[in-house]
Amino acid sequence: MLMQDCAGFVTGVANHRSIAWATARALDREGARLALGYLGERELESIERITGQLRQPPLLVQCDVTDDESVASAFEVVGREVGSLDCLVHAIAFARREDLDGRFADTSRSGYDLALGVSAYSLNVLVRGAEALMKPGAGVVALTYLGSERAIPRYNVMGVAKAALESGIRYLASELGEKGIRVNGLSAGPIRTLAARGIRDFNAMLRVHAERAALKRNNEVDEIGDAALFLCSRLSRGMTGEVMYVDAGYRIMGL
Ligand code: NAD
Repeated sequence: MLMQDCAGFVTGVANHRSIAWATARALDREGARLALGYLGERELESIERITGQLRQPPLLVQCDVTDDESVASAFEVVGREVGSLDCLVHAIAFARREDLDGRFADTSRSGYDLALGVSAYSLNVLVRGAEALMKPGAGVVALTYLGSERAIPRYNVMGVAKAALESGIRYLASELGEKGIRVNGLSAGPIRTLAARGIRDFNAMLRVHAERAALKRNNEVDEIGDAALFLCSRLSRGMTGEVMYVDAGYRIMGL
């Protein structure tokens, strides 16, 4: 098994639809011991209903990336209970609905700060917390989306947050490379999750994607989970600072 004797910290599990959950299942299937980071009580309740599906019971750790104490205490628990880490998964994003719905030009200062803080700066926060625990060769994976480089209707401030996240991936990769720690992005096609519900007309986005993508379909969440497994595992040991697209061939298409 690819992740035998390996351990990982997967953040961003909200429920059974989460990309983080698909990633956790893929890592667990390949033998990894896992810590799952959750935001609050509501997420914990959902996670407790599904953890029985994993082969090994995960450690559940509260970790709010906007709260330094919460993050410090999460890494203290992960270090004590799990020990060193072979991978870290960042699958966290948030923006206020009004900042996705309206004009990008009208994004409020607080909405902009919130979206970039939770969705992009949080990668620095998690990497700093995990750095001392990560083994040489360890993989950090952050979930991103094409809205970072194209103006996608109704993605707005989240597109700017994803651009910051992807740039952050490159800077972090350049700094952590000397320790053998790799940092990569995984750009997923649209998947129906809780976060996606914040995007108005998400169904239209799915429809257009399936029409235009080279594979003429949408992605399944397990395809994203398996790709995240690759970026976490030694199979991708020669890669860092990259953004890998798993989007059914949407980005490569012209008109
Ligand atoms: P999701 O709602 O299941 O996951 C988002 C997670 O972010 C939730 O678990 C939520 O609790 C967490 N979160 C929000 N604020 C937080 C905070 N302050 N501290 C800690 N956690 C916090 O949705 P998802 O679609 O699985 O999103 C996971 C990642 O995948 C996000 O980065 C998202 O932008 C990215 N992504 C999603 C899609 C898609 O179409 N669903 C496509 C490409 C990339």
